[in-house]
Amino acid sequence: MACSCISFGGVARSCQARYCGCVTDAESELIERAREALGPHGVITDHADIEPWVSDWRGRVHGASPAILAPASTEEVVAIVKLAAERRVPLVPQGGNTGMAAGATPSADGSQLLISMRRMNRIRSISAEGRLAVAEAGVVLETLHEAAHDIGMRFPLTLGSRGSCTVGGLTSTNAGGTQVLKFGTMRALVAGVEAVLPDGSVHSGLTGLKKDNRGYSLDQLLIGAEGTLGIVTAVALKLVPAVAARIVAWVGVESPARALDLLRFLEARTSTIEGFELVPEDSLQLVLKHVPGTRSPLNDDHQWHVLIEATTTDSGFDIAGEIERLLGDALQQGLIGDAVLAANEAQAEAFWKIRDTISEAERAEGQTLAHDISVAVHEMPRFLVEASAEVERRFPGVIASGFGHLGDGNIHFHVRAAGHAAPDWYESEGAKITQFVDDLVTHAGGSISAEHGIGQLKLAEFGRLAPPGRVHALRAIKNALDPLGIMNPGKLVP
Ligand SMILES: Cc1cc2nc3c(=O)[nH]c(=O)nc-3n(C[C@H](O)[C@H](O)[C@H](O)COP(=O)(O)OP(=O)(O)OC[C@H]3O[C@@H](n4cnc5c(N)ncnc54)[C@H](O)[C@@H]3O)c2cc1C
Repeated sequence: MACSCISFGGVARSCQARYCGCVTDAESELIERAREALGPHGVITDHADIEPWVSDWRGRVHGASPAILAPASTEEVVAIVKLAAERRVPLVPQGGNTGMAAGATPSADGSQLLISMRRMNRIRSISAEGRLAVAEAGVVLETLHEAAHDIGMRFPLTLGSRGSCTVGGLTSTNAGGTQVLKFGTMRALVAGVEAVLPDGSVHSGLTGLKKDNRGYSLDQLLIGAEGTLGIVTAVALKLVPAVAARIVAWVGVESPARALDLLRFLEARTSTIEGFELVPEDSLQLVLKHVPGTRSPLNDDHQWHVLIEATTTDSGFDIAGEIERLLGDALQQGLIGDAVLAANEAQAEAFWKIRDTISEAERAEGQTLAHDISVAVHEMPRFLVEASAEVERRFPGVIASGFGHLGDGNIHFHVRAAGHAAPDWYESEGAKITQFVDDLVTHAGGSISAEHGIGQLKLAEFGRLAPPGRVHALRAIKNALDPLGIMNPGKLVP
């Protein structure tokens, strides 16, 4: 069907901001040619099948797309990209659509085609000897975990969305999660990337070389590029030996500064710590109120809490004994108020459930503004306390606090509306509060996006606050690799 709207070079409709349901000649041709190249399973045009994938995970941004193209091989991705380049039709790569910055959401005018990578879900190879897995972009993180476990190994990155997020999405957002303290973000865990670049050429970096000094690293450029420089089709991932035992502890402390002191105390005495999550009392209380089946791990109240995960690959090592002894020493030295070790796996999972359901509990309580921020690790305790107080002073009635990856200098800094807030508080106050928080973060030398990326949601703030040199370099790289602007336009690059 030819579109009756006026279109410029088949790229943008000029007649309306909202998608009218029709397609331009260029899109129509592309979809038909894609059907020939990908077969009937590779092209989805049914509105009901497209609808669940055109809004972001949080439901904040709603887009539209006339079709979802779902390639099953790198060759099929090449075919799509070449067709899109010829017709100047923008593409939006998508994995599990669990991203927090609406990077995988197409624009609302329906001028961009979604490329779902979920059919590319093969683990091409996995080796304990080589300590490497080569997984296609659509492999779900949990599937990778299971495959590694089956050969006595482990892919040591995990996060709450592990049942849905994909290797391609994790790579493209440089995802973090709860084990970054020991193993780093995706940047540290990716050994190489295979991707289709905007001109349809293939970058093949899957050999897993540990050392390779042939100039700029295209692999690293593609990690965290949020689909703006090409479509990731497969990734070589580093594996580590499987865990023989883990211990999870819950600790009460009087302040974030004390929590960081505890981390440094433990790090000086053991190399087993891989998770260290800060939880304020306020967040714990919200979880206990809203999440059925949760109970406070400690009897007494504490202003702040820390969830600690320690692991060992040595089955003969008494890790529980070591952590118990160290926490006992910390208690004696007055570093901590109290501590409890999970007695079994069920209790360990119960401790983690408290940490993992904080956002859910906040949503149940009312409207919340989420900020995924970082500052230098040693600055975070002071920043957290002072910034919370400043936000509460500037916007009377709100509750500001932060939880999460203290050991990475990365906190999810959330601002909640007071109980009596207007139903449109988020829309009316959100931008002002977020700007205030982002200014504080920038002033402290921090980042307004620690692990969630820029996508569309943070694009304006990134443009407002990023130093000119950084913006210039981003635009130069984008223009050099994607001169036609067909790769996920409107995301990441201000
Ligand atoms: C409950 C929950 C907990 C979370 N916890 C964390 C956390 O602790 N740490 C963290 O970092 N994130 C977290 N996230 C965010 C999210 O899971 C990650 O950003 C994840 O990496 C997104 O993967 P995805 O496959 O869903 O990507 P999508 O959401 O589909 O896409 C994300 C971005 O990557 C691009 N992209 C996707 N696939 C490709 C590809 N093959 N090639 C090129 N570009 C591509 C998209 O265009 C988009 O810009 C959480 C999300 C949820 C829902």
